[in-house]
Amino acid sequence: MSTTSAKRKDADINLKVEQLVKQLTLEEKFLLLSNYNKQSAFSSTSIERLGIPSLEMTDGPLGLSWHSSSRRSTRFPATICLSATWDRNLSQLMGEAIGREAREAGKQLLLAPGVNIQRTPLNGRTFEYMSEDPYLTKEIAIPYVKGVQNQSVGACLKHFAANNQETNRRISSSEIDERTLHEIYLRPFKEVVQEAKPWSIMGSYNKINGKYIYENTHLLRRILMEEWGFDGFVVTDWDATKYIHDAAICIRSGLSLEMPGPHCYKLELLRASFKKGEFTESMLDDIIRRFLRIFFLTGILDPEMSSHDKRVDSTQNPSLARKIAEEGMVLLKNDRGLLPLNLQKIRRIALLGPNLDVKYGRPQYGGSSAVVPPYEITPLQGIRERCEKKIKLVDDTSKADLAIIVAGLNHDKGMDSESEDRKSFDLPQDQVELIKKTAQDNTDTIVILISGSPIGMEKWLRNVPTILEAWYPGMEGGRSIANVLFGNVNPSGKLPITFPRRLEDSPAHSGKDNRTYPGDENHKVYYKEGINVGYRFFDAMKIEPNFPFGFGMSYTSFEYQKLRVNRKKIKSMKDYLVVSIDVTNRGPLDGSEVIQVYARHNQNEAQRPLRELVGFEKIMLRSRQTSSLSIAVQAKDLAYYDSEKHRWRLAAGDVELQVGSSSKSDFLSETIVCYED
Ligand code: BGC
Repeated sequence: MSTTSAKRKDADINLKVEQLVKQLTLEEKFLLLSNYNKQSAFSSTSIERLGIPSLEMTDGPLGLSWHSSSRRSTRFPATICLSATWDRNLSQLMGEAIGREAREAGKQLLLAPGVNIQRTPLNGRTFEYMSEDPYLTKEIAIPYVKGVQNQSVGACLKHFAANNQETNRRISSSEIDERTLHEIYLRPFKEVVQEAKPWSIMGSYNKINGKYIYENTHLLRRILMEEWGFDGFVVTDWDATKYIHDAAICIRSGLSLEMPGPHCYKLELLRASFKKGEFTESMLDDIIRRFLRIFFLTGILDPEMSSHDKRVDSTQNPSLARKIAEEGMVLLKNDRGLLPLNLQKIRRIALLGPNLDVKYGRPQYGGSSAVVPPYEITPLQGIRERCEKKIKLVDDTSKADLAIIVAGLNHDKGMDSESEDRKSFDLPQDQVELIKKTAQDNTDTIVILISGSPIGMEKWLRNVPTILEAWYPGMEGGRSIANVLFGNVNPSGKLPITFPRRLEDSPAHSGKDNRTYPGDENHKVYYKEGINVGYRFFDAMKIEPNFPFGFGMSYTSFEYQKLRVNRKKIKSMKDYLVVSIDVTNRGPLDGSEVIQVYARHNQNEAQRPLRELVGFEKIMLRSRQTSSLSIAVQAKDLAYYDSEKHRWRLAAGDVELQVGSSSKSDFLSETIVCYED
C-alpha cells in the first residue's frame, strides 16, 4: 500500500473510531477495558447495543496454541530456530502463515512475537524468544509482525519489558540502568513499533526498577506512545495486574485491556476512581480509541477496511515449517566430515537417545506457546523414512557403521518451559553417560540436540566428532533432520545466542551472585553486566565460549573477498551505507551462507562493546560460484543511548566495519568516520 493510501486509510479508521467512541456510555467504556463476559480467557467484552463483538485472541508464537484456539494448527519450529535461519523472508512467511491460520480460526489478535532478550541460558522461555542480540531480534521480528498483519490479524509484541527470566516472574524487579534498558532491552520493541507498527503490545509480569509496567506512565505513555509513536493498544499479560489496585494510574499510563479478567479495572474500582476525579473521561477515551482501532484494522466491524490477501492456502504451511527447521538447524561440529551421511557406504546405523521418538506438540506442554499439530514427524520417523530398504537401523552401537543419539531437553517444567527456569545448564546425567558410552563403543557418533536454549557440553563435547543443534524443529522436524543428515539440505543456520562453556561464563551468572540471577531476598535482579549481554560480555571479558554468537558450519566452505563500502562518512542518524563483498563457495556442494557485519567503535565519548552486529544477509551459492553481495547498514544501528541527554546519539569517531561468518571469525574490515549527530 502506498504511503498516501495508508495515510488515507488511517484517517478513515480514526474517523470511524471517533464516531463509535461518541456513542459509548461511560459504563460501556468501562466494560471494554477487560473481559467481563468470562466465556473465554481470550475474549474481550462485547457491546451488543453498538454491534461491537468481542475481540478474539490466541497465543503464538510457534503457531496457534491449542489452549486458546481449540484446534490443531501448524506447529512451526521454536522462535529461536526461526532466528537461527537469519532469514527475514522466512520470518515474514511464518508470520503470514500463522496470521492466515488465526484468521481462519476466527481470531483477530495473535499474542506474538516475543522479543525479550535472552539474558540467561536458563530462562525457561529462551525457546520462544529470538536472540541475545537486539539487532538480530528486531530484524527477525519486524517481518514476522508485518506478515501477521498482512493477514488482517493483529500482532501483539510481548512482553514489555525486561522480562528475562521465569523465576519469580510476577514479583521480581529487573534493576537496570537507563542506558542498558534502552540500548538492549527496549530497543527491539522500539524498532518493531516504528518499522512494523504492531496493533498491540503486551506488558510483562515483572517490575522494572520497582514498578510494574502498567503503573509506569513514563515508559508506557511518555516513551512508548509519545516518543516512539505507538498508536496501538496495551494489553496486560494474563493476570499480571493481580497486585495493582489503582485503576486511575493504569488509565493514565495507557493500559487499554486487562486480561483475562478485571483486577485493577474492576467496575466498582473504576466507578469510584472516576467519581473521585482521579481520571477524566478524555483520558479514558484515549485508551478506548487505541483499542477500537483493531476492530476496523481487522475488518470485524467493517469488512471493507480489511486488506488481506484472500487466497487462503494453509496446506502449504507444513512445508514452510520444514523449510524453517532446515534453514535454522546449526551444525556445531563436524570433525572428520561425518556429515552428510553417505548412503552408498553406510549399511547400519544405531539410533538412540531420549528424544529420538518424542512428539512435542501437546496441550500446554511448555506453556502458553504449545501448539498441537495435526501430525508430527519424530526424528525416528524421519530417519526411518529415509533409510527404508537402504540402511538397517539397529540398537547395537558397536555393530553399526555409526551411531546417532538424539539428546537434549524437552518442555517439562525445569527445562524449556514457561513459568519456571531451567534447573540445570547441563544435560541430564543419564544422557551424558549415554553419549560417553556410545562414543566409546563407536567413534563415529553423532549427537543431535533437541533444545530451545544453549546446553553445557564440557563433559562430553570432546568425545564426539559431530553435533547438530536442531532446536524444537516443529511438526515436520524428523524430515528436516533427515534432510540435513543425508545432505539433501546443506546446513546454514547460525547461532542467535552464545553457547558458553560453563554457566558462570555467561553475564547473568558471572561471579555466581544471586543478585544478578535469580535475584536477592527482595526479588531484585541486578543487571550488573549492563550493556554487555551475550557475546558483548564474552568479548569484554575475553572468555572463549564453546560456540560463539553467529557461528554455524556448512558442508561446503566460503571465501570472502573485496570488501567495499560505498561511503566513508556518516553524519546523521538517517544515513545508511552499503557494504559489498564477493563471496565464493569453494566446496563441491551448493550452500547458503550468512554474511555478518559488526561495528567496532573507536571513540571516547562512551564505553562501547568490542563489536556489535549491525547488518547481515543470507546468500545461496552453487558449488564454485562467486557472487557479489550488498548489505545495508543503517546509521541508527551505529548509535548508542546517551543517558545524560536521554536519547540515541551517534558518537564522533572511527568505526571499523568487520565482515565475517560469525562474531569470532577472521574479519575483513573497512573503517568509516562517524560525526556527532
Ligand atoms: C504468558 C503470555 C501469554 C498469556 C496468555 C501468559 O502466561 O506469559 O505469553 O500470551 O499467558 O496465554
